[in-house]
Amino acid sequence: MNAPHAPIATFSSVFDLDAETLAAGPGFLAEMGQPSYRAEQIMRWVYERGAESFDQMTDLPASLRTVLARRLTVYRSSIERHDRASDGTAKLLLKWPDGTTSECVLIPDGDRQTACISTQVGCPVGCVFCASGIGGLDRNLVAGQIVEQAMRVAALCRPNRLTNVVFMGLGEPLHNYDATVAALRKINSAEGMNIGARKITVSTVGLPKQMKRLADEKLQITLALSLHAPTDELRARLIPWAASITIDSLVEAANYYFDRTGREITLEYVLLAGVNDLPEQARQLATVARRMRSNINLIRYNPVDGLPYERPSAEASTRFQQILRDRGLNVHLRRSRGRDIDGACGQLRRRALASTPPPPP
Ligand code: SAH
Ligand code: SF4
Repeated sequence: MNAPHAPIATFSSVFDLDAETLAAGPGFLAEMGQPSYRAEQIMRWVYERGAESFDQMTDLPASLRTVLARRLTVYRSSIERHDRASDGTAKLLLKWPDGTTSECVLIPDGDRQTACISTQVGCPVGCVFCASGIGGLDRNLVAGQIVEQAMRVAALCRPNRLTNVVFMGLGEPLHNYDATVAALRKINSAEGMNIGARKITVSTVGLPKQMKRLADEKLQITLALSLHAPTDELRARLIPWAASITIDSLVEAANYYFDRTGREITLEYVLLAGVNDLPEQARQLATVARRMRSNINLIRYNPVDGLPYERPSAEASTRFQQILRDRGLNVHLRRSRGRDIDGACGQLRRRALASTPPPPP
């Protein structure tokens, strides 16, 4: 049995490895008497050609394929559920060998094919309006599992190419920092998924120290900061876990991120009817947003069963947006996608858990 929060596996899948480790790491190609170019060959099969098993890698010697298959897998998840919404959004519930599950989503939008992936099973933060945090944190995902979700979604879009990846599924990416950054590098690198850094977004509840550390990683990714409130008091009510993290400290970290990367911050603001969608709050938010180089994304709340929050009307949302626009801010009201398949993060997994009978005592 794994310790709580421990990653479930190391080096059991190709997605855990880079070409260098596969070529020269203990137990791998060099020790099997194989030339190092085989590692690049395998990576190309997996990332470019979408191979799902070593069997399909027909230009590798058959004996090598057999040995590799004994030591490693390509995909270690199985697809537990595959739902498709009327707007084309598709949601996968993946089951890992230890029985835990993760969800990931494909959001097609014209030429853009976006994968939304998870970094943890559950979430330690527990924002009061979010389904993902309800049961707390179950465990962290390892980098290879984060990458595997993006690859599962990439397979769904073939023959189109996956163009964007957003870390907006279950979990708080910067709370699982090392795995998140390792996954970012694999998704971005030419030997990996080769998706441009500017097409990758990490969404965080806002951990100032880790935001600054990420700024220093020399990745050109977009950082989205889940602000949700224009004052510390309201933010502490919506995100009690982060009550000691002030908006001042988030502004400082966001400015550091912009200075180091030249990338504007995306401020995310989930509109909750009657809670944070009042005109006065829009004016306060404008004052906060002006302290950063930012774009604002307003997200109309997707109601969660059992939680007392409501989606604001279209009028209230547009009025909120207009107040920000009038103050010269760049603000988008995001369309919600996949609502008929529980598009909001965490809901699918929750439903699946609720419908599974508990294990025998
Ligand atoms: N933990 C990270 C990333 C995952 S959540 C974060 O909080 O940023 C991704 C985004 O979805 C966050 O902005 C979050 O507040 C928002 N979200 C969560 N539950 C939602 C819901 N029911 N409806 C709309 N947006 C939601
Ligand atoms: Fe966690 Fe993000 Fe949901 Fe908050 S909104 S509970 S940080 S996943």
